[in-house]
Amino acid sequence: MTAVATETAAASSERLRLTEIFLSLQGESNSIGWPTVFVRLTGCPLRCQYCDTAYAFHGGEWWEFDAILAEVAQHGARHVCVTGGEPLAQKRCIALLQKLCDAGYEVSLETSGAIDIGPVDPRVSRVLDIKTPDSREAHRNLWSNLPLLTARDQIKFVICSREDYEWSKGIVAEHGLTQICDVLFSPSFTQVKPSDLADWIVADRLQVRFQLQLHKILWNDEPGR
Ligand code: SF4
Repeated sequence: MTAVATETAAASSERLRLTEIFLSLQGESNSIGWPTVFVRLTGCPLRCQYCDTAYAFHGGEWWEFDAILAEVAQHGARHVCVTGGEPLAQKRCIALLQKLCDAGYEVSLETSGAIDIGPVDPRVSRVLDIKTPDSREAHRNLWSNLPLLTARDQIKFVICSREDYEWSKGIVAEHGLTQICDVLFSPSFTQVKPSDLADWIVADRLQVRFQLQLHKILWNDEPGR
């Protein structure tokens, strides 16, 4: 390989395909409400029936790591959320997470739960989905991720029906999830009445955290907000 070819190969290993980078308020998880820079990676191998970011499945543009870090910095926020799509579907996401931690940001990662989280920098707060039956992607749950979770992380269920709720309750009990980290239950936006889910949790005295997606309440889920 020539020197030029080696340089090109090195540069291409330091880039990721992105759909968007934008500043908003964190709409969910334990960092809800904080001004946060979102780095949305392109692509996802799943197809949850309620997906609200299908526009990130395809397209996007290649960004060098230096350009990503510069764009993140110019927004001036302490919190950075790497999301998708499924960010871990691009292997170089692992290196970006490390660089963001090295730069001193509070870094979170939103992941589908279908890809190994083992290589993720331990400074990152991982928000791991467990896909319910009514997402139609429950067969993608990678259960070997659960023992890797720590108190820094969060587990998220998007509940689409009463049946989903009962299933999720069973999974929380079976795996002792509330002993590991915070467990979040969200209603699927148009499929479960938020007050119904809230009532079920209270009636069962379930030690999970109910949450609504703030960005949908504030901005009706516009891309880039
Ligand atoms: S994992 Fe996330 S991005 Fe992928 S289809 Fe499901 S909701 Fe959409």
